[in-house]
Parts: sequence; structure tokens; C-alpha cells
Amino acid sequence: MEKPNLQNAMIDSLPETKRQIAETDIQYIKGIGPRKAEALQTVGIESALDLLYYFPRRYLDRTRILKIKDAQAALLMTEEVTFVGRIKSVYLSARGPRRMLFVSFTDGTATLKCVWFNAVHYFASVFKEGELIAFSGRVTSYRDRPCLIHPEYDHLETESDEDLLNTGGIIPVYPMTEALRTAGLESRSLRRIIRKLVESTERFEFPEDPLPKEVLSTNSLLGLTEALTLMHFPKDQKQLTYSLRRFKFEELFYLELLLAIRRNVIKNSPGIRMNPPAQLVEKFAKECLPFKFTESQRKSLHEIIDDMKSEHPMHRLLQGDVGSGKTVVALVAVLVAVENGYQAAFMAPTEILAAQQYDTIRKYFDILGVSSALLTGGQNKRLRSTIYSEIEDGTTSVVVGTHALIQERVKFKRLGFIVVDEQHRFGVEQRMALQEKGESPHLLVMTATPIPRTLSLTIYGDLDVSVIDEMPAGRKKIKTALRGETNRPKIYKFIRDQVLAGRQAFIVYPLVNETSDSGRVSSDGNLIPKASKKSGLKAATQGFVKLRDEVFRGFKVGLIHGQMTDAEKDDVMLAFKQRSLDVLVATTVIEVGIDVPNATVMLIEHADRFGLSQLHQLRGRIGRGIHQSYCILMADEEHLNEKKVQTRDDAAAFQRLKLFASTNDGFKIAEYDLMLRGPGEFFGTRQSGLPPLKLAHLIKDRDIITQARRAAFGIAESDPHLREEGHLKVRSVLLKNYNESLAFLKAT
Ligand code: ADP
Ligand code: MG
Repeated sequence: MEKPNLQNAMIDSLPETKRQIAETDIQYIKGIGPRKAEALQTVGIESALDLLYYFPRRYLDRTRILKIKDAQAALLMTEEVTFVGRIKSVYLSARGPRRMLFVSFTDGTATLKCVWFNAVHYFASVFKEGELIAFSGRVTSYRDRPCLIHPEYDHLETESDEDLLNTGGIIPVYPMTEALRTAGLESRSLRRIIRKLVESTERFEFPEDPLPKEVLSTNSLLGLTEALTLMHFPKDQKQLTYSLRRFKFEELFYLELLLAIRRNVIKNSPGIRMNPPAQLVEKFAKECLPFKFTESQRKSLHEIIDDMKSEHPMHRLLQGDVGSGKTVVALVAVLVAVENGYQAAFMAPTEILAAQQYDTIRKYFDILGVSSALLTGGQNKRLRSTIYSEIEDGTTSVVVGTHALIQERVKFKRLGFIVVDEQHRFGVEQRMALQEKGESPHLLVMTATPIPRTLSLTIYGDLDVSVIDEMPAGRKKIKTALRGETNRPKIYKFIRDQVLAGRQAFIVYPLVNETSDSGRVSSDGNLIPKASKKSGLKAATQGFVKLRDEVFRGFKVGLIHGQMTDAEKDDVMLAFKQRSLDVLVATTVIEVGIDVPNATVMLIEHADRFGLSQLHQLRGRIGRGIHQSYCILMADEEHLNEKKVQTRDDAAAFQRLKLFASTNDGFKIAEYDLMLRGPGEFFGTRQSGLPPLKLAHLIKDRDIITQARRAAFGIAESDPHLREEGHLKVRSVLLKNYNESLAFLKAT
């Protein structure tokens, strides 16, 4: 146990002198000594104020807790519910391929069972008979009885918690770590300590609210002190919503302010003022393009050219679903730069894509007499050094490449325009490194991730956005189906029929490490690893052999995966494009950009292991020609059966696939995908060098985003350097907490 602490006693006996809460070392707070302080430091808590910023991860609210006797009725509810009760038994089923853990608990009205399929030994050690626990989850049925599968849980442990619940209070539950637990700082103790702290606020001087008064009032936000208190001990849901809203707003406000500042910097720097398109572009349109631009292509192009004519560098995002025709739009802009006597660089994320883009570009540009080159890491030294010198002396006007473009050795004579394709594959540093090879070159980044406009304003906040939201005429909708193992023979026959009709097919296997995400996170926060790289590759390779020798014997079957050299990959891709292969067995290396209009079928194995956006990218590889295309998602038969017991992750995966099969609309898919991601996973900020969001959610908190953006951009416009009296606090928070992001913004 802790020794009585002198300073501790001192603070308690000196209520008259107010102390700065932000400067009060946590170890001198009542109930905390050096040992506990050390544990708190591991989660970033140093001062008493830090402790108030340690927000609950959930709340137990009596009005939202069900009695177990009502569990049967809760079967019909799709949302999560909570039950509180004491553990009656913990039972591990007999050894076998699928060992299960059963935990029964009761609240006096009835008994409910919880079931675990994964990590059963771990969970078996978590629960002890007699403990008071709050279980939360969706009620499902197992052997015709209601149950909870892999529920979330919180130990309540004391009678006082029970009392609190019975009297109708809301109990905060804090994020727990091993270090906190070992130091005796479970939720229950934290609750007690924080309660004491907020009850003795008269002894502390709270920091002045950094948010300007008019921002607080215009947006009806709670003041800092009140909001901090209510985060921990709200009387009802309404109070909780109010205080949470203030902190979400604040978080978004600083984020938007950073974006506004960056925008100011860009808008005020001098760029290259270019002349409008002339003969070269006209010739391109006449002689190279066998089609007319869609209305949104035309509109995007206008926006791009207007930027190029202005005196500031362009900083624009071109957003459009796969196959919407972004590349040709970019090429027109590239030609404008060339006409103005500048060089252009086109950066693609993989060697295959760079090579493919280069093929397209060269085909066009040779006709126009514009010199182009391809630069990738896989090229031999001699070739590369020739390319380097031709870029440097200006012989080459347009260079297409991978990140090989940003190597130090690459020097441009007059780089004036940059295209970055599939920008989500690059970090912002890479984008900047390329920009530094010219003097304020215009920048166009392209992405096939369609996101709602309010969001793109924030995710790509410093970029202007152009959207191509229509497909070229004559495209057929891809038909997508969700199937299980029993359908396999029929599916293979279908593919053979398509090939016999002259079409080609992709068969895709999941493979970790070639993809951007590394696994799924389960509802209780554990990472569920996907197939390892090795086993994934094995599956693809074995699948390939079987398909080639048995299923598709007599047809030409090829294999492509990330472990092959670039030359090998190129050979296979080329063979497929030239139709010397009928079926291509692949891992996700074919994810982006590959263009084979004759391919009409894509069979995706273990579809549940892919993220939604990734599936959408994959599916975009078909449906690019005049023939009807088909995408078949293979999933575990068990997961297709809605009536069977499923873990929440399995059920979620199934929902995801169902939604995907029901629509071709990239916006809808992206929105759903974003909805599923937690607030922490602010995709895009990672690449943009912006701080991650902890509280706000991109989709759910859209209204707050809009308000915070309005407030922040208003301030940045009227007082760009935040020198006014009312903005000094904001300025100092920005400098203190967002220094890294600021330095980063200034550097660009
Ligand atoms: P994205 O890069 O947006 O995925 P691409 O620029 O690769 O799309 O275009 C996909 C295909 O559509 C290409 O073969 C391209 O030549 C063709 N295409 C582009 N614009 C049009 C259009 N307006 N009408 C018909 N086909 C088009
Ligand atoms: Mg493309």
C-alpha cells in the first residue's frame, strides 16, 4: 500500500490557495501516489488536467440496460444492448476443432449465456464466478436460446456501482491498460479519483477556454470547465451529448484551422502562370481521342486549366470512380504545360501501372511529337542514366514513373506540372519530394476513392476538388453475386463459357502485405490476422496449379503475384492484355488501374477478407469494355447463412459483402466503408500529415465538421496569423499541440 504522502496532505490542508490545475502534478492528487502516478504516465497523464482529459470509452446508463428476461425480445433489435449481472459459471467446451467458451450470468430476472469462439483461453481467464459485469452486444440466438457472442464487457466489481445504476446515474467506464490495472487503477478507482477532483474544482484554477467567445456562442458550445466535468459525470444522455459535442468541435476546429493556414500559404505563393490550350491540345482531341468528353470531364478540365492560368500554383484533387476517365483529362493538362514550354511528371504507385500509363501516353504523344520516357526502379543502370540526362537537359518533356521519380538523381530542366495517380498510395512526403524538383509546379492528384464532398473538403482539406461523377456512355453495369462453396462447379462452368465466348477472367486471392490494411480489428479491439503472406501466396499458387491442370484444362491460365519480379509481372500482364491468356490467377497486385476491356469475369476468393474500398477497386478491373461483366464474391458458406451463429465480425463481414453486391455506386460504398471505420482511423490524414481524430467521426459528425470548418476558415481569413487578442489562446494551443503538423505545413 502507499505511504501517506506529505505533499498530498499539504494540498488537502490548503484549500484557500488556488492551484493551476494544468500545473498540478498528478501524484499530489488525493488517492494517487508516486506508484499510481507512474502508471498514469504510461497513458500520457502527468497533470491533474490531463486526468480530466482522460475521457471514458463508454458509459453505462441504466435507462439503456435491459433485464435479462427481455433478452428474447432483444433478438429483434439490430442495435447493441447492455445487460448487467453476476457470473454464474464459466465453462470451456471439450477439446475439438472449434473449442468454445460459455459464460452464464444472471441479474435475478433470468440467466443469459455469452459465447466465445476465438481466444477462448484468454477470455476464460478474464471471468470469475460471482463477479458483477456489464455485457454489451447484439443479442443473437444459439440453439434457439438468446445469447451474446463475443460481447464487450466491463467489470463493475463494487456494490456502489450497482447502487449508482439502481439510482439511475450514468457510470463512466475508462480505457484500461495492463499498467493501470496493476497499479490498482481500474475504472472504479479512476471514477472515485476523478469524482473527487471535479468536486473540488474550487481549489483549482482551470485554464481559460481557448476557443474564442464568439465561436462558443455562435455554435452553442459548452465552456471548457463545464464540458470537462460533464464528460465524466453527465446526469443524462443530453448532457453527455453536449459535452462530447464541444470536444469534437474543438478537435475539428484545430484540424480545419491547420487546413486553412496551409491553404493561405499555398494561395499566397507565386506559381507559374500558363497560357490557355492551343494547337497541341486541339490536335490531341482531334487525332488521339476516339470519343467525346463527358460533361463532368469537361467541367473538371476547365477547373484545372483555370488554375494553371492563375498566378498561384494549382493544388487540385481530381476525384472519379474507376474507369470514369481521369487519365485523359490529366493528359490534356499535361499537354497544356508542354505547350507552355514546361516538363511534366506523371507518378503512378506501381511498376505495372506506370508502364501501362506510359503505353497509353506514348501512343498518343508520339503522334503529337511530344517526347516521353518511362522511369522505374526495375530498369537497368545504363538505360536509367540515359533517361536521367534527357530529363535534365530537357530532351524529355513528359516522364512517367514510379517513386523512382523522386530519387535525388532525377533533375528536371523545367518541371511545371505534376500528376500523382491513385494518390492514396503515396505519402504526402513523396508528393512533396516531387514538387521540390520544380519551382512551384502545378499539382494534380487523382483518386478513385469517391467520397462525399463535405468529407473530401476535410480529408483533402487543402486541395481544391474536381469531381467526375458520370461514366462514359455505353458502359454496362457490372453484375455482382455473393456465393458459397456449393456453387463452385457452376461458377467454374460459367467462367469456361465466358472464355469460350471469347472473354477473359480474373480469379483473385487475398494476400496480406500487398494490401494496405493488415487485418481486421474485432469488436473487442483484437486484431484478427488475415492469412499470412506465406499461406496466402501458397493458396494462390496451389489454386493456380489446380485451376490450370484441372478446372480450366485446355485453356490458357496465368499467375501473377507480388513476389514476382517486375519483369515477370509485366510479361504476364502483357500476355493477358494481348489475350494470350484466358484466365489470370492473381493476388491484389491487379488492384488498381489495370485496363483489359475484354476481361468480363472476376471471381474473388475469400471476399470477406477484403476491405470494401479494396473490393471496389478490384471490381473496377472489369466492366471496362462493351460486354456485360460479372463479379462473383466467394465467401464462407457458414457466413452466408444468416440463421447460423456468427461472431459479430462474421456478421459484419457478411453485411459488408451484401451491400457491395447490391450496388456499383462508389460513393455509396465509400460512405459505408467510412461509416465502419472508427473515428481514429481518419484515412487521408495519415497521408496528409494532419493529426488523427480521436473523438469526431467523419460521417456521423458531418454537421459538426461543417460548423468547425466555417469557424476556423473565418478566423484564418480575418486574422491569418492569429495575432488578435481573442485568438492568442488558439494560437498557443496550435503551437503547443500541433507543432509537428504546423512545421510540416510551413515546409510546403
Ligand atoms: P480512370 O483513370 O478514371 O480509372 P481511365 O482514364 O483509365 O479511367 O479511362 C478508362 C477508359 O475509358 C479508358 O480506356 C479511356 O480511354 C476511356 N474513356 C475515357 N473517357 C472516355 C469518354 N468520355 N468516352 C468513352 N471512353 C472514355
Ligand atoms: Mg486510372
